[in-house]
Amino acid sequence: MSQRTFSIIKPDAVRKGYTGAILAEIEKAGFKIVSIKKFSLSKAQAEGFYHVHAARPFFGSLTDFMSNGPIFPMVLEKENAIADLRKLMGATNPANAEEGTIRKQFASSIEENAIHGSDAEDTAAFEIGYFFAGVELK
Ligand code: ATP
Ligand code: MG
Repeated sequence: MSQRTFSIIKPDAVRKGYTGAILAEIEKAGFKIVSIKKFSLSKAQAEGFYHVHAARPFFGSLTDFMSNGPIFPMVLEKENAIADLRKLMGATNPANAEEGTIRKQFASSIEENAIHGSDAEDTAAFEIGYFFAGVELK
């Protein structure tokens, strides 16, 4: 059954001009781009998005990074979208990411790791609703 997930091309990848190449990988892997936009998060909006990590030591740095330049949030759709996107992204730390994954090709560090992908159905639902209104998601 078709499933939706949420993804972000993070500020490091946008700044380096990798947006097109990352979208090409996503489409090549069979995902349909349901909706996409470009804007910059405020620090408070980044904190809201990553609220599950609020107690982590890297929370301040992560939310500074995520609010320091434009991002491309998007909703993606395919069979098994959540797990398949996580596989296509590769490990959080690009040093541990498999060959051919997006993070292996485009990420520079464990923090500046090019792409986000939802990790479960409930987080995907929260994250899609955080960035997109129902009328944007036909
Ligand atoms: P994401 O949620 O962005 O898809 P992930 O699920 O692979 O990534 P999480 O553990 O959810 O990884 O961490 C969220 C984000 O926080 C990471 O993608 C990365 O940008 C940052 N991060 C994770 N661990 C560290 C760390 N040890 N030091 C600095 N930043 C980190
Ligand atoms: Mg995560």
